[in-house]
Amino acid sequence: MTDSKKFGFTTQILHSDRQKPVEHGSLHKPIHTAVAFGYKDARELAEVFQGKKPGYRYGRQGNPTVSALEDKITLMEDGYATLCFATGMAAIGAMVQALLRSGDHVVSSSFLFGNTNSLWQTVERQGMPVSFVDATDVANVERALTPQTRMVFVETIANPRTQVADLERIGALCRERGILYVVDNTMTSPYLFRPKAVGASLVVNALTKSIGGHGNALGGSLTDTGLFDWTQYPNIAENYQRLAPKAWGMAQLRAKGLRDFGAALGPEAAHHLSVGSETMALRIERESENALALAQMLSQDERVAAVHYPGLASHAQHGIAQALFKACGGLFSFELKDGIDCFDYLNRLQLAVPASNLGDTRTLVIPVAHTIFHEMGPERRASMGIAESLIRVSVGIEDTADLLQDFKQALSA
Ligand SMILES: *Cc1c(COP(=O)(O)O)cnc(C)c1O
Repeated sequence: MTDSKKFGFTTQILHSDRQKPVEHGSLHKPIHTAVAFGYKDARELAEVFQGKKPGYRYGRQGNPTVSALEDKITLMEDGYATLCFATGMAAIGAMVQALLRSGDHVVSSSFLFGNTNSLWQTVERQGMPVSFVDATDVANVERALTPQTRMVFVETIANPRTQVADLERIGALCRERGILYVVDNTMTSPYLFRPKAVGASLVVNALTKSIGGHGNALGGSLTDTGLFDWTQYPNIAENYQRLAPKAWGMAQLRAKGLRDFGAALGPEAAHHLSVGSETMALRIERESENALALAQMLSQDERVAAVHYPGLASHAQHGIAQALFKACGGLFSFELKDGIDCFDYLNRLQLAVPASNLGDTRTLVIPVAHTIFHEMGPERRASMGIAESLIRVSVGIEDTADLLQDFKQALSA
């Protein structure tokens, strides 16, 4: 396995732990629970602290089990390096903390995970204005840029309305203007799409979702694709400018984001997420097939007002999704016609579980306006295209016929 590039996606993940020495030949990287790491020679400890020698110091700043997961994500994203965090939001929050300064401007897609939307509102109050734009068209992003714009932030497929960002053209725009391009890849996962292919600088993954895949551990990550020229970024502290320019971003993210912000991923969670990632490709292929079958069935039913899934030919960004993604993943949403109560419908489902998570092996459903998007109020919901009856479905790996039967029988009560 010296040249990992010649192996396929799943093969690389399965054999990643063996690329570095593993205790007793263990085929899983063991769960290292130690907070502190001891050295026989005190000089060696000092060298590790000064970055002159690789090694671990203190659990908040790095852990061997977590590093093994970081290596896997770097392989998945074909990146330069990855840092893991306690949750997906911790990864995004740490990035903001480490890279933005008062007066900086951010351009963000307005079609966003609800908590990221909420985080941007906090960021605005801290003195960093955020412009929300319809990122399905690069022209809207370009119009919002100012000389202070430091970062453009988009999601690949937005949750829950499944808008697909104009990923390639936004990448070209950011490259031309030297702006950091951050892509949240959670909905597609690195199996369906590598943001590096469209020029992303940093890739966010909520490991909680498809990468872990079983709804049994929280985690998040930031991957530096190696494409961004950090010498053009004005907020890198002098301290990190002593390193090779390629390493500046990660060094500042590790110190200011992970070390000082402190939302480290625990080794037990890292182990769950690592094991889950081994079957990610298999799970996502099945979830994508199931989602397409359900979306097609519902879109042909007269009791359904709308179905949002990029895999349907009727979706506004179907062409882009077909061109960029291996498949369209397990997330879709739909609206019931007036007269069918969305709570009654959800209560009639026998397999799909009303619950708030995504990328689980089980199919989960949630009434969006009344739960995850409740806090933002009706106006902002309307601006994001969220109908009051919208149901989000995170499709699992159940047998296709069982899911089709369940969603159909719930319509015909
Ligand atoms: C879930 C999610 C997050 C946040 O991940 P957590 O692990 O729940 O903090 C961020 N972005 C997207 C697109 C998500 O779906």
